[in-house]
Amino acid sequence: MAIRYYSTNRNLDQVPGITPFKKYVTFREALLQGQAPDEGLFMPEPIPSLDLARVMALKGRPYAEAAKMVAHTYLKEEIGEEVLDRIVEDAYNFTVPLEKVTGRKYIMRLDQGPTASFKDFAARLMARLMSALRDRGQTLHVLVATSGDTGSAVGDAFRGVEGIGVTILYPREEVSGRQKKQLDSIGGNVQAISVDGKFDDCQNLVKEAFADSDLAGLNLTSANSINFGRIMPQMIYYVYAYAQLAEPGEDIVFSVPSGNFGDALGCEYARRMGLPVARLVMPVNENEEFSRYLETGVYRKISPSIACLSNAMNVGHPSNLARFFDLYGGTVDRTGIVHAYPDREEMKRRIYSVSITDEETKETIRRVYETYGVLLEPHGAVGWKGLESYLETNPGDRLCVCLETAHPAKFPDEIEELLKIVPQLPSSMQGIDDRQGEAIRLPSDYRSLKEYLLGRR
Ligand SMILES: *Cc1c(COP(=O)(O)O)cnc(C)c1O
Repeated sequence: MAIRYYSTNRNLDQVPGITPFKKYVTFREALLQGQAPDEGLFMPEPIPSLDLARVMALKGRPYAEAAKMVAHTYLKEEIGEEVLDRIVEDAYNFTVPLEKVTGRKYIMRLDQGPTASFKDFAARLMARLMSALRDRGQTLHVLVATSGDTGSAVGDAFRGVEGIGVTILYPREEVSGRQKKQLDSIGGNVQAISVDGKFDDCQNLVKEAFADSDLAGLNLTSANSINFGRIMPQMIYYVYAYAQLAEPGEDIVFSVPSGNFGDALGCEYARRMGLPVARLVMPVNENEEFSRYLETGVYRKISPSIACLSNAMNVGHPSNLARFFDLYGGTVDRTGIVHAYPDREEMKRRIYSVSITDEETKETIRRVYETYGVLLEPHGAVGWKGLESYLETNPGDRLCVCLETAHPAKFPDEIEELLKIVPQLPSSMQGIDDRQGEAIRLPSDYRSLKEYLLGRR
């Protein structure tokens, strides 16, 4: 049966201001539209199944083989296998180390891509899928606002991709020197714009551009984290890790440091596709709205969000929570209002979540390095500490994999302060401080952005 995509808001008939989108769309439409017209998130139906024998046959095989298998289950109706295989091989030209920590416990390092964060995995495949699935001869224009890592992963992923131009807006005073370097120097079809304003100003400029019919000829599209095209690639590394490490018939625990829940959602889908995941551990930092919900049954977003060391997880209302609620029979909207609660008991059987403080994060970085010689940065440390917390109530030497989502060299100050060592830059990031490239400076004013975009066409 062909996979189609529905909106998480499809049942909100009685809610003022929402006109539920009740149709189904294809992967291509979900990818190019980003979100449903009712501001809900697209969900696949039915969820396809994996053949576990074929998964086990991936043992010892390159990552791209796992990626082909998963991508093919979602896309076989929409892209020919040869084309898809070429896209996948081009996207995944780096390694995915599985590092043993102790016993049956591993760290999976998702930091070997060009911008050294796990966001490379999703952005690189999505960029190539957009290029392949656009109308023949059509040029798309990706417009994104960023406060840091997402922008560089997305910008780098689209570099040189045919038929797509990219404009990245960032707040001049709110990105670090190294982040600015990364954004400004991508080059080619990717242009950075440094805005005199805050991240929210950048986001508002982008929203205004999407609503402006004068720009219809530009084929503007977004590449943000709620796009299903960024979720599907995040299922692959769970399948890959299981195939490399599991004995036949064994089950596995994954720990996924979580912010907007897109990464963990990849694991949730992988389980629903048949991967034997015993429990999905979703540690969060001090933004504990989800762990508190599992405990109390009441969901309340945290606004404004709390600034923690694991800064990519400073999220007070995870954008992909709507998908988790939907999968367990509930509905929550973009603003954080719960219209129907999900089956919390079932959720707790499958998911374990815990809030990790900054103090615990630092203690974990220090202790894991001293005890096992394994280097973690703050996001991975939240993941590891969350796994330890889970194992306190669920002891045993079962197979566990904790995801490390960024390279420690992206946090040189924290690592040096805690461990008195300076982490080596990964090869992808060496020479970053010498790269050339200038951002275009714009005031925080829509007319200037519009003029720029029309001129770029
Ligand atoms: C984005 C990000 C996360 C959080 O991932 P979500 O999919 O938003 O839960 C964790 N770690 C790093 C380094 C990130 O960049």
